[in-house]
Amino acid sequence: MFKILKVDHVGVAVKNLAATKNFYSEVLGLTVFGEELVEQQKVKVCFIPCGDSEVELLESTAPDGPVAKFIEKNGEGIQHLALRVDNVENALADLKAKGIRLIDEVPRYGAGGAKIAFIHPKSSGGVLLELSERQ
Ligand code: ZN
Repeated sequence: MFKILKVDHVGVAVKNLAATKNFYSEVLGLTVFGEELVEQQKVKVCFIPCGDSEVELLESTAPDGPVAKFIEKNGEGIQHLALRVDNVENALADLKAKGIRLIDEVPRYGAGGAKIAFIHPKSSGGVLLELSERQ
């Protein structure tokens, strides 16, 4: 059993993290938090809290990274939707039992120390869905 708690964040693929950060902070007046390199995903990310959810900006650090490939195919824009779950292992077991196609069978490290896993868009109405568990 698992529970979806809320929309955790919306992931946006950008070519220039600094410029986009500037838009969110200077133009929209939001506070941008840190910057983290997630080596495994070949991305540099930052989070921008916005009410109860956040915007995640992702800039690729390598031409063969998933975010670079996304931009090559679709241009910059919304790349994934992340839902906060109470327990990501339980969620994966449950979804697997229901025959849902998963990208991650086991959770991986996400920015900010979250435990995350992705569901394949073929199983979720065309949206790359991230499940995120945070303390
Ligand atoms: Zn994300």
